[in-house]
Amino acid sequence: MKVSQRLAVSLVVVGAAFTLAQTTQPQDEEFARSVKEWTTSPQFMSPLVDHLPKAAGIPSPKDVLGYYIGAPKKLTYTADIYRYYRALAAASKRVKVFTAGQTDEGREQIITAIADEDTIRNLDTYKGYLARLADPRGLTETEARGIIAQAKPIYLFMGGLHSSETGPPEMLMELAYRLVAEDAPLYAQIRKNVIVMIMATAEPDGRDRYVDWYYRYKTASESENDGIPGPPYWGKYIYHDNNRDINYSQVTMRNWLKFYLQWHPPIMHDLHESQPLLYTFSGQAPQNPTLDPILYAELPWFSNFEMTKLISYGMPGVWDHAFVDMWSPGYLGFMSSNHNGMLRMYETFGNGGANTMRRNLGGGGRGGEGGGGGAAAEPAGGPGPEAAGGRGGGGTEREWYRPLPAPRQVNWSMRNNTNYMETAVLSALELTANFSQTILENFYKKSRNSVESGRSEAPYGYVLPAGQRDMTRVAFIVNILRLQGIEVGRANAQVKLNEGTFPAGSLIVKRDQPYGRLAKILLEVQKYPDPSLRTYDDTAWTMGLMSHAEVHDIADKAILNVPVTPVDTLQVQGEVKGEGPVTAVLENGSNSLITLLYRLKDVKFESIEQPATAGGTNLPAGSLLAPASPRLTSEIDKLGLKAVALASAPDVAKHTVTLPRIAMYSTWSGTQDTGWVRYALDQFEVKYDLIYKERVRQGSLKGSYDLILMPSQGGRGGAKSIVFDIESRGKAVAYDKTPQFKNLGMYGESPDITGGMGLAGVTEIDKFVQQGGVLVTLGASSYFPAEFGITHTVDAARPSAQFYAPGPIVEADITRPTHPIFYGYTDRTLPVRYAGGPLLRVPAEGRRWVLMQYPGTDKSVLSGLFKGVAEIRNRPAILDVPSGQGHVVMFATNPAYRWQNLGEFGMLANALMHWDDLPKPDAAPERPSGTGAGAER
Ligand SMILES: [Zn+2]
Repeated sequence: MKVSQRLAVSLVVVGAAFTLAQTTQPQDEEFARSVKEWTTSPQFMSPLVDHLPKAAGIPSPKDVLGYYIGAPKKLTYTADIYRYYRALAAASKRVKVFTAGQTDEGREQIITAIADEDTIRNLDTYKGYLARLADPRGLTETEARGIIAQAKPIYLFMGGLHSSETGPPEMLMELAYRLVAEDAPLYAQIRKNVIVMIMATAEPDGRDRYVDWYYRYKTASESENDGIPGPPYWGKYIYHDNNRDINYSQVTMRNWLKFYLQWHPPIMHDLHESQPLLYTFSGQAPQNPTLDPILYAELPWFSNFEMTKLISYGMPGVWDHAFVDMWSPGYLGFMSSNHNGMLRMYETFGNGGANTMRRNLGGGGRGGEGGGGGAAAEPAGGPGPEAAGGRGGGGTEREWYRPLPAPRQVNWSMRNNTNYMETAVLSALELTANFSQTILENFYKKSRNSVESGRSEAPYGYVLPAGQRDMTRVAFIVNILRLQGIEVGRANAQVKLNEGTFPAGSLIVKRDQPYGRLAKILLEVQKYPDPSLRTYDDTAWTMGLMSHAEVHDIADKAILNVPVTPVDTLQVQGEVKGEGPVTAVLENGSNSLITLLYRLKDVKFESIEQPATAGGTNLPAGSLLAPASPRLTSEIDKLGLKAVALASAPDVAKHTVTLPRIAMYSTWSGTQDTGWVRYALDQFEVKYDLIYKERVRQGSLKGSYDLILMPSQGGRGGAKSIVFDIESRGKAVAYDKTPQFKNLGMYGESPDITGGMGLAGVTEIDKFVQQGGVLVTLGASSYFPAEFGITHTVDAARPSAQFYAPGPIVEADITRPTHPIFYGYTDRTLPVRYAGGPLLRVPAEGRRWVLMQYPGTDKSVLSGLFKGVAEIRNRPAILDVPSGQGHVVMFATNPAYRWQNLGEFGMLANALMHWDDLPKPDAAPERPSGTGAGAER
């Protein structure tokens, strides 16, 4: 089609788009022909993306990749994506590429900036303006207005966070080309008024692994129900939870945050795939009330504009308002709204690859966000995403927020996906370019209001007192606040406030700072606004409760004037007091204790089993004794532990600490929860083998291992999904490295990931326990020993349909305080994160197996939402069940949850450190005669 003809058509069909999209550039006619062919119906096309201009010397994606964006059966590896952006940068002064860091697997993380030539040349100046607006302290209103008049907003796009959501990294390349090459007024205006930044792939390791998997298994798929599971891994540790990493544990996510805090983009736009046909986030209830009301007005402003534009082009199935809410601050893109910017998000309809498929939308499409991973994504607390999102439905019903619904059935292609997303983001950029001053003003006001609210609304700050028993967990909190850009100071002298007197050196967080609101969000108790509302993820994250560290809310305004020295990162210095041949390392509840054992594996440590007093110091039960040595002193120093030197070992019961040979068991579908536990153990330097069904079925487990750790797996599928895992469809699905697919077979490999350990595997694990092994099950995995008879007198029930507990923090009572699992814990009641584990019940003779239980009263809910708490009343939270020669330690809790509840981690660490000194059965054995099985086999 000739240019003039194309314009004529645009003029007739969509007059509104005409002036902005008008161009006299030569067009790539093959592009127009191809995308028309790949777009399965004219209603899925817009005048913004039905053509592609040619620009002399500027490479289009096809010039570099060899194919157009949205071509069927084409997905691009990160190296080629980066090659494209770099070619664009080499060809045009409108483009600059930055490196934000390196992933776990050593891939570069790049961000591409696009604006007009002058803006790109002066990027650092614009960076400086935004930094000034981000921290407006000391700025007069006049000065602020002066900066806003010169500044330009950065609009940052993020694609490919979830690796199975394959479209955004493709679309963004074409967007980049258009932004550089098109000369229509729309583009000139965007280039002039906005700095567009593109995070090419938010999870580069997962992108390459998923593309490998797609080319190996899925290019022939004609249906989403092709029976081929997703790849077992995206990133090194986790898959869709990379969007739930509230503490930025993963190195890739941490690098993005650092970049964000250097550049301060007022808008960050997170591009996902799931809902038909395009859901644009408008920040629905429940909303976190601490964030600025301006944000909640901005979100629907943008989403309604996009919806208006796409509907005006005749594109059905665009909606906002429903689906994802604004409660949890832990999604990756919330780095923006948490820092006074604006988080934006899409769910565009996608096929989990680049194949064209017939799709039924009536039933809610693909359902779960990120569902293309190994296991389906399940929001916390139970019900599926439909219920979690509340309204929204399948996208095919007419609603006030969906005036032009999607057809019930579509033939959907990658190009359709590109058309929708690209048209919408161009609309968002059009709005931004037209209102860039408003966006900058809002960014400034949100930052200013955050400082102001800290001066006018209690709490005015937080105190983390110095001198807490274990300061390493206090340091964990402080360092995460620092990572988030929150200022923390150390009190120069004793602090007297209405709330109490705190020693010199206490850590002070004042709220009158740009990220004072974020500090409040992270440290306060979560009061869920409306129990009738469901939410997409956790309802509680209170850092003090999660870390078992003392954090005081301060309503005394005097905290704002406490003299402090700024803390960069908090390093806890350990110490050994006194001199003597024996060093006693105090068990003060530090998670570093287990690290010490692994760092000094060749040293013989003994653990005292009762508290003792020696040399005027109280040694809590679980304290470690070892011969004094400079190495030991040095590690104690580095790990922030406390120790005393003694003339001789105290005369109390003790046992030698023998580190177990640990196997961590993972199903092939549940690698993510295992990944969080792997991450925690790696951080604390605990050594283990990661094993799968292949090793379990081989048998002789006791010959290789002392302890099998089974992280929470199976979810609501319970024990059967642990045993049978991914259903076999008669054809092997290998996860291994081949010359062509080098990203597969990492973190384990298998000739066939389907089929599960089966009953043969269960028998091997039972044998392992009977022969003296220790099986430790966490969270949902605790259904397994109960339901498959390894602890067959323990009952593991499920809550009722009314029960709803999306990650609240509740109290649990220790019922057996002398058990080694509680070394280092001094309180009898602890805050734990409710993990949705089984409702356990023991037989009468098993009362002694109960180590901890839930009171299950209303007042035992400390933070977040818990509907139906009475259902957990007096239910065990942790059991130690003797079985045969061994033990099964069943946690209904999850002591290694998403690098958050480090206060609970000590119970898991203790189970590992003291595995061979768990108390001998002093109640009836698990298999008493008369129940059918003997006590021993
Ligand atoms: Zn997603």
